[in-house]
This record gives sequence, structure tokens and C-alpha cells, in this order.
Amino acid sequence: MLRHPSRPTCAALLAAAVLSVLPPSAEGYWSAPARVQGRLHPPRPPAASLFSAPAGEGAAPAPREVLIIGSGWGGLSCAHALSSAGARESVRVTVVDALPRPGGLVSDSAKTRGGRPAEAGQHGFWAEYRNIFRLLDALELDEDPLTGYAEQGQWSPRGLEGTWPVYCEAGPQLPTGIGQALFTRFEKLGPLDLATALPLVLAFSEFDDSEEAWRRYDGVSFRDLCVRLGVSKRTYEEIFEPMILTGLFAPGAQCSAAAALGMAYFFVLRHQDSFDVRWCRGNVGEKIFAPWLERMEGRGVTFAPSTRAEDFVLDDAGTRIVGVRCKDAASGETTTRSVDEVVFAVGGAALAGMVRSNPSSLGRHAEFRKFSNLRGTSVLATRIYLDKKIDTPYSANACWGFDEDVGMTWFDITKLHDDPHSADDAGTGSVIEVDFYHANSLLAMDDDSVIAKVKADLDVILGAACQAAQVEDAAVVRLPGAVNWYYPGSHTDMPEVRSEALENAYFAGDIVNTRHGSWSQEKAFVTGVEAANMILGRDPEEGIVSLGEDEAHVAFGRNVVAGLKNVFGGGRPERAPSLFDFLP
Ligand SMILES: Cc1cc2nc3c(=O)[nH]c(=O)nc-3n(C[C@H](O)[C@H](O)[C@H](O)COP(=O)(O)OP(=O)(O)OC[C@H]3O[C@@H](n4cnc5c(N)ncnc54)[C@H](O)[C@@H]3O)c2cc1C
Repeated sequence: MLRHPSRPTCAALLAAAVLSVLPPSAEGYWSAPARVQGRLHPPRPPAASLFSAPAGEGAAPAPREVLIIGSGWGGLSCAHALSSAGARESVRVTVVDALPRPGGLVSDSAKTRGGRPAEAGQHGFWAEYRNIFRLLDALELDEDPLTGYAEQGQWSPRGLEGTWPVYCEAGPQLPTGIGQALFTRFEKLGPLDLATALPLVLAFSEFDDSEEAWRRYDGVSFRDLCVRLGVSKRTYEEIFEPMILTGLFAPGAQCSAAAALGMAYFFVLRHQDSFDVRWCRGNVGEKIFAPWLERMEGRGVTFAPSTRAEDFVLDDAGTRIVGVRCKDAASGETTTRSVDEVVFAVGGAALAGMVRSNPSSLGRHAEFRKFSNLRGTSVLATRIYLDKKIDTPYSANACWGFDEDVGMTWFDITKLHDDPHSADDAGTGSVIEVDFYHANSLLAMDDDSVIAKVKADLDVILGAACQAAQVEDAAVVRLPGAVNWYYPGSHTDMPEVRSEALENAYFAGDIVNTRHGSWSQEKAFVTGVEAANMILGRDPEEGIVSLGEDEAHVAFGRNVVAGLKNVFGGGRPERAPSLFDFLP
């Protein structure tokens, strides 16, 4: 069994993907297209017609055909839950993905110039990721795929700005908020500036994650909220703006206050140790997705890589999807698959594109038309191989101040990965991953310029030792508009787990409105289980490890605010004034 903290914690961060150095190779643990092609079209039971399969009298009903579009965390967890014991007999699950390898935003399909595998950015696992930790236990891997906890650094061109300790070891576990305030070390920001963040407690007390709270806080930007609450310019620019740029991947002026408060609470404030984070000891694709997919294939799930879902056929009433036209990237062949249930696990930009290209099917419904508002923000993920070993103070780091409105994190892969140079290569120098968020302006640079910029930024941070090193190999992964963007007003544009307009359509992924956590792999995972539960007619929470209760003082504050709103609203809290009504 793997060892995980009994109550996991939270944190920073942080992107459909055009992987600029990604060859459309299907080799590896995902079946080659030719092999899959045969399994894509399993023989149907004789009774099945294209659009329905009535069971013969006395015969066991034919399993329902579930098509999951997208193999990121959301799609994979849905397939996982649908193929679990007690469920798999009633459904036949196929997962299609436009990309050659699974994982979505966490895919390891990129390659360095020298041919080493690389990922689309680093992905941390924070302590509240209880459902993913449980999955890792269930996989019974030979060794724990995740690192332990370690201190993290925050940098600007001026040098080290702050250190995040390992909060579960930093001292006694104090009521949340107090521990983080006492144990986080800011090098340059004084207590007076830090004290101006206190009024945000009021916002956290009113923002209780209810639909009503989302309605109130989603229309305003996080920056506006901070300005109106009196947060100092320095505190905003040196703490909150970098946090939003690396947590929601866009500037605070362009992110909803609701999404920002939800993210900060889940990753930092649920408990003192919520910001403690573990990283994968290799590429997530190799360490976690490969064994996971193998188990699911053993349970009868069919995976079809390099297969894009393009068009949707509705029944005569226009309320059910009966067929999905898919295109095989290698052969160019299109096939219409008959379906009983469809799970969209594709991310916002892809969902918007599907609606736009299907005006006479999906576009018939207002619910789907609103998805065309969804848009994505861009990420640039880079990994450089140096010819010398550099001593880095922290293995995981965030930065601010290098490029206006661009977020930045960097990781010492040499420290995080068991085999940083991977496979058969003989490199001995440092391997550093540098990822940029809200990075449109950087995506416009050519690869050589990107690599030179990455090295120059690291030279500033790491000094002479880094300046003396040469780049031997590098990966540059571009993700234009690929990451869900939580712009003000986005909440109402985002899907619920179950479609209202189409009775057999479901949504999974971090874009889905759910009460479980913030934008993260964990949220995507949980929504996949939620979608599976609905398809199977199960309790919505079945198989989900809940987040647990708020700490007592948080619950007290929220209850006081809720009580006051009840009184001032004459029993209708939604009619009571909000914090916003008192702000300048
Ligand atoms: C650089 C970076 C760093 C991140 N860091 C962290 C972190 O530290 N911790 C964390 O928890 N999260 C992190 N995230 C966020 C995390 O990656 C996402 O929350 C999560 O992976 C989303 O999973 P998903 O299933 O919702 O969607 P996605 O991963 O976007 O998967 C969607 C899939 O749908 C497929 N698809 C789209 N259209 C079609 C179509 N028409 N037909 C077939 N397939 C289609 C895509 O190819 C893709 O594989 C990070 C993201 C990025 C980019």
C-alpha cells in the first residue's frame, strides 16, 4: 500500500493542446490506432439497431454503450467508475481522445529536441486530493509515485521573496489562517502590508460555496474585490496576483472573485497544511496513467487514441444524442458510433468548438449555446537539460515580475524525478521545468527564443552557477487557449454534471460546476465519478471521499453571516445586502 497523509492538503496552481514538439506517435501504453481500430467497432448484439437496442423478452438487457469524449482526469475517472465491479455489466465503455496519448493536460506526449519524453507542465498533488490518493492506493503500485513534502520558494527578479514551509511539520496545527500567517516567511513584505489582507476574511465568510454565493461573487473580478476591500497595492501585486496567475492561469482582473476565493480556500485555507504539495517522481503519464489504463483495459474499457469526436446526431425529438461521428487521425476515416450515453470530458475551449461546429444538433439548445462563451487561457511549458548540475534551494517554485501579466513556476526535475534524464541517456546535469501561464505573448516567440528566455530567467534566479551552464536539450510545449479560463461571469457558462437539454449527455472535468474543490486534477477526477454515478442511477456521492466539514471557526463565521442575511432578508437570504453593497 502507498503511504499518504491521513488527511491530505492543498495549493498553488496552476492549462487542449497543441503540443508543438509532439509527434503523433501512438506507440507506448496506449494501443496503436491500427489495433484499436479493430476494437473500436465491437460486434453488436444481434438485437441492436443503430440507435436503440431493445432486449428480447427474458434476455438480460444489452449493456448500454457509453462514449466518453476526452481522456484527461475527468474522462478517465468516469471510465474507472463505470468499469468498477457491479457497474461494468450494465455498460460498455469507450474512451476517445483526439490526442495520441491519454492524460489531456497532464499528457506526456511531448518530446524534447533530443527525443526525451516531456510533459505539458508540472502537476502537483495537494493534500485535499483524497480521491486521487485513494486511487493511487487502489492501483497497488510497486512504489509510491509521489514525492514527499518539501519547502517551496517564491522568486522575483529581485531574488527570493518568500518561502512556504511544509505546513504539517512547521509547528502545532493551528486554526486555519493563523498557522499560514505565522509560518509563511515573506522576505520583503512588511506586517502592515500583510495586515491589509485581513478584510478578505469577510469575503471568505460570505462566500460559502453556495449557488447564491457564486452568483454574487462570480460577476466581479478578484482584483476589484481586493481593491474595494482595501488590500494594499504591494500585497495584491506581490502575493495575490502571482497566486491567481499560477492558480487560475490569468490575471486577477480577468478572473472571477468566486473562482479565486474557491481556489484559495481549497488549496490554501481549508486547513493549515492545505498548501503542502507532492509531485510525481516521474512523468504522470508513465507513473500513474500507464498502470491505471492497463487496469481499465483489463476491465473491458476500450481506448481509442487519435480519434476526434466531431459531429452529433440527435433523435427526432432533439433530446437525445443517438450517434457521434468520430474521425481517426491516422486514416482520416470517419465512423458514426451509436451511443446510449455520452460524457463530454473535453475542457471549455473544445466544448465551445463542438457547439459552434454543430449548430443543427448541439446548437439547438440554449444550454449548449452558452458553452460557446467558454474560452481558454494559454500555457507555455518548457523543460531544459543543462550540462552542469546546479544547486537549487527548493524543488518547486513560483515567480512573479518577469513578464507583465504572465505567471511563472519552475521545478528542479533533477530533485523530483527518480530518473530525471530518463531511459538510456547519459546526461548528468540539472533538468529544470519552467512553465508560463496566461502566456499568449510568449507563445508568439520561436523555440530558440523561448529557450534563451527560459535560461535568462533562470540565470537571474540561480546566479553564476546557472550562467556557466549550457542548454543541451529542451522541450517547448505550447498550449494555446487550452486551459479553462475562469473569467468573471464564467460560472453560469459552465456545465453541470448532467445536461438538462439532452437526457443522455453528461459532463466531466475541471470545468464542471461542482461543490468539490477548485480547478484541479482532483476536481476533474471527482466530476468523472459524479457523471458515472448519474449514468448508473447511483447516489451522487457514491464512491467519493468528501472534503469534510469546515473548521469550527470558519463554520462559525459562515453561520453568523448566513444568520444575519436571513434576518436582513426577512427570511430570504438572497434578498439581504451583500458585503459588496457596503464596499466603496
Ligand atoms: C501547465 C499546467 C499545470 C497544471 N498544474 C496543476 C497542478 O499542479 N495541480 C493540479 O491539480 N492541476 C494542475 N493543472 C490543471 C490540471 O491539469 C487540470 O485540472 C486537469 O488535467 C483537467 O482535466 P480534464 O479531464 O478536465 O481535462 P483535460 O485534461 O483538458 O482533458 C480533455 C481531453 O479532451 C480531449 N478532447 C478535446 N476535444 C476532443 C474531441 N473533439 N474529441 C476527442 N477528444 C477531445 C483532449 O485531447 C484532452 O485529452 C495544470 C494544468 C496545466 C496545463
